[in-house]
Amino acid sequence: MDKININELTLEELENYIERIDEKKFHAKQIYKWLHRIGVVSFYDMTDISKSLREKLKKDTYITKLEVITCQKSQKDGTMKFLISLNDNAAIESVLMRYHHGNTLCVSTQVGCKMGCKFCASTKEGFERNLLASEIEGQILTIQRYTNEKISNVVYMGIGEPLDNYDNVVKSIRLINNPLGLGIGARHISLSTCGIVPNIYKLANENIQCTLSISLHATTDEKRREIMPIANRYTISELLEACKEYIKITGRRISFEYALIYGKNDSREDALALVKLLRGMIAHVNLIPVNEIKNGAYKKATEKSVENFMNILNSCSIVTTVRRELGSDIDAACGQLRKKYIEKEKY
Ligand code: SAH
Repeated sequence: MDKININELTLEELENYIERIDEKKFHAKQIYKWLHRIGVVSFYDMTDISKSLREKLKKDTYITKLEVITCQKSQKDGTMKFLISLNDNAAIESVLMRYHHGNTLCVSTQVGCKMGCKFCASTKEGFERNLLASEIEGQILTIQRYTNEKISNVVYMGIGEPLDNYDNVVKSIRLINNPLGLGIGARHISLSTCGIVPNIYKLANENIQCTLSISLHATTDEKRREIMPIANRYTISELLEACKEYIKITGRRISFEYALIYGKNDSREDALALVKLLRGMIAHVNLIPVNEIKNGAYKKATEKSVENFMNILNSCSIVTTVRRELGSDIDAACGQLRKKYIEKEKY
């Protein structure tokens, strides 16, 4: 029989298993805490569990094991970027950002990405596989143990498209919420999507209070299709309709991400078109001067045009911020470290 991944079991499943092997049910809670609150990577570390039970666990099951391969720390702002390996040696990235309101971890949801956004490094090496829920949660546990610091906020903005790995992502949010585990509230979790419309409706009905971020990046379907292939599947109007429904059902504000690309989507007309699209919505706009990737075709918008763009939105009562560039000295934009790692492995 194949071994079970013990981190993927719910508490109830773990209890059933423990009873099946003739052990006392209360051990399930102890084990659950070791796995989901502490994040041990070996049964040996479960110090209040008897040796005989640990042996049984080891025989039947295995632990989701994440290991830090490399860590880069920004000299400018303390941002830390981690390259992490999984049980099958696939590599993903997580980024720890320090804000005044606490430590935020940016987690990956897939190994690679299928979405093909032109400006994004995560997609350049293609798609390998989805992450399991415990591999998403495991990034937080691993980084907490590595740094000995508490993580209070989580953003699903690393490698991958969260709504293209829907079931595992939703399961991971519930795992992270669980008070027996990390106990991070959904209001401290943001999920970013390029706009897989049917799954936005689905998420709205999950009764999860997380913040939704939409990667919009353009104001016309034509321009959006040039930079984001997903725009061939869903129009901006279909996307915004789903957003309105999400707001209606959850009562949560939506955040729109807009990567400013020089000469592409950074003009005064673009800003005014964005105002028109978002008028009347409970929305927040996050402008991101595009991060130039190696061999990428797109250039960062000038500081002046970023400022002008923001002023137009703000003057039209759309709350707008410019994303502070963190870790610019350490390839902190998603996918860049993994891309380098894979390129090096090839030679
Ligand atoms: N797949 C999800 C989440 C991952 S990326 C999504 O598309 O939303 C998180 C954010 O960073 C997205 O808004 C994405 O479009 C943006 N992004 C990716 N590469 C970037 C780059 N080179 N410069 C600026 N923003 C980038």
